[in-house]
Amino acid sequence: MSSPSPTCLNCHRTEHQVPLLNLRFGGKEGWVCSQCLPILIHKPQQLADKLNLLEPLDPVPDDD
Ligand SMILES: [Zn+2]
Repeated sequence: MSSPSPTCLNCHRTEHQVPLLNLRFGGKEGWVCSQCLPILIHKPQQLADKLNLLEPLDPVPDDD
């Protein structure tokens, strides 16, 4: 199983083009690059729609 290369949720550049930072939001996970991170910090509403499109995380198995 191969996972797709991570890309910035905003500009869609890959980890080969820019440093990507792992992002978690609302039980979902994605990536944002160092150049888009300030947008997320200062204007998160601009990325709200994109955050809502992130892939849900797999639920953690509860071994009990
Ligand atoms: Zn970006």
